[in-house]
Amino acid sequence: MDSYATFTCAYCGEENEVFVEPEAGNKQTITEDCSVCCRPNVLHITIVNNEIFIESEFEG
Ligand SMILES: [Zn+2]
Repeated sequence: MDSYATFTCAYCGEENEVFVEPEAGNKQTITEDCSVCCRPNVLHITIVNNEIFIESEFEG
């Protein structure tokens, strides 16, 4: 499966690409800095039928 997915930065709204490790499980929470504004997004990753869904939110 394609392990790259995009999320929308919770701060500036820009699209970011992030590498997801499917081996880490179908539900993951990681923190990823936005490549545009450098602020940390908390990403809730859900993998369903080899499709990656990401919800981003402010850290804290
Ligand atoms: Zn941003």
